[in-house]
Amino acid sequence: MERHQNYIDGEWVAPKSKEYYQTHNPARPQEALGEFPLSAATEVDAALAAAERARDTWSEMPVTQRAALLLRFSQLLADSTNELAKIITLEQGKALCESAAEVTRAATEASFAAGEALRLCGQTFPSERPGLTCYTVLEPLGVVAAITPWNFPVVSPVRKIAPALACGNAVVFKPSSLTPWSAVFLLTLFEKAGLPGGVLNLVIGPSATGERLVSDPRVSGISFTGSTAVGMRIYECAARRMAKVQLELGGKNPAIVLDCQDLDGAASQIVAAAFLCSGQRCTALSRVIVEDSLADPLVDRLLAHMKRICVGNGLEPGTTMGPLVSREQMEIVAGYVRRGIEGGAMLIAGGHMLTADPENQGYFYAPTLFDRVSPESPLALEEIFGPVLPVIRVRDAQQSFQIANGTRYGLAASLFTQNPCLVHEFIKRVKSGMVHVNHGTASQPHIPFGGVKDSGQGAFSIGPTVKEAFTNLKTVYFK
Ligand code: NAD
Repeated sequence: MERHQNYIDGEWVAPKSKEYYQTHNPARPQEALGEFPLSAATEVDAALAAAERARDTWSEMPVTQRAALLLRFSQLLADSTNELAKIITLEQGKALCESAAEVTRAATEASFAAGEALRLCGQTFPSERPGLTCYTVLEPLGVVAAITPWNFPVVSPVRKIAPALACGNAVVFKPSSLTPWSAVFLLTLFEKAGLPGGVLNLVIGPSATGERLVSDPRVSGISFTGSTAVGMRIYECAARRMAKVQLELGGKNPAIVLDCQDLDGAASQIVAAAFLCSGQRCTALSRVIVEDSLADPLVDRLLAHMKRICVGNGLEPGTTMGPLVSREQMEIVAGYVRRGIEGGAMLIAGGHMLTADPENQGYFYAPTLFDRVSPESPLALEEIFGPVLPVIRVRDAQQSFQIANGTRYGLAASLFTQNPCLVHEFIKRVKSGMVHVNHGTASQPHIPFGGVKDSGQGAFSIGPTVKEAFTNLKTVYFK
């Protein structure tokens, strides 16, 4: 089994403690995948010191060179699609086709970020005083911490690292401890692309490693994707020293179905958006809010589309849904299902593990559908992060919007309808960072992505808004 290291100051280095942990394949949990460092304060400190030393040279490098380097990285990433997709599936579990799409997506986002290096434009202003020139410039923050979850082990880091580097920052990257192999692979590609030592550093370890990183005063910007609970903690910590944050957090994304003639099309989109990545996506559609008169036929169609999902080892051809990422995730999902049943929700599909012995045979969970779920049920209010879809029946549009807005989250929402008046009402009334009409909750590699309420804070990621996240504005008066 291969032993991997941290990447600090342009070198692959062992942790001072010499302590490592193993990762495992969620489709075959007895299969260890590799050994990874259990980094502590020493490694975080070394990574931050290296980033501090490298930041000025990097920010002063001509932007065309920075952009060229990021484009080289993007190309190397695209060229590695097959190899890296296999690593994602092995450590995260998702179907190989999803993993390959994730790598392709990350490569496109990196090339967009490369272009942003050339678009770091300020503004000029007319002056009220003669002879005074007034303008703004965008300056890098300095050292940025990038902290990522396990559900998108390639696109989530690239979405932070590439724009942070494009904007002239040095970066210390802490991936989820469940998916460090993809992170190591990404660092090898940055190294091949010619990134100077210290500009990007990788520190692998548990949440305590991340906590050390975000608490350090040398970090002036934090880009975090993960749970709302951890995001709030990071926000508080950053506020104490006014560090800039970009927080991408949880979601409980509604699919509202009202006055809809194409119920089969709606069901197909909903099922795809709900069960991709076994429902372990922040933008997964995770509740259906449907008007009473359409509920029975919609549920039939949802069931029909769910039957086509082929659950299995993500590396096997034909698999469309892999296992849950870990034993812990499996227990969380099972707990919600149990509480849902106890609370009176009607279980109409799934609701159980697909293996008798998950620790040996994999954390496979059946696609699960609940009907007649109360809007107060935890199934309807909380982020489950698994293949569980509750259906809530409502009287009318008013009630559907009220329930859609009735959770702490505001990441993404979909409406399926043929009624243009409802479309306008939905776009106006639903409190959500992203809204979709007659479409599942998808995103594109050049369009701002983010949430409101407890789903996010700071500038949206992807697209031109990344410059707000990774730069400070400076206003100049020059006579
Ligand atoms: P998590 O919050 O447990 O961990 C995320 C990362 O933060 C990991 O690297 C972890 O080690 C680190 N971490 C944990 N505690 C920390 C602390 N106190 N200080 C600093 N770092 C710390 O999340 P997860 O279980 O890995 O991922 C699932 C969550 O991520 C879900 O809630 C999901 O909605 C969210 N997510 C959001 C988006 C989005 O764009 N909004 C995208 C993907 C995932």
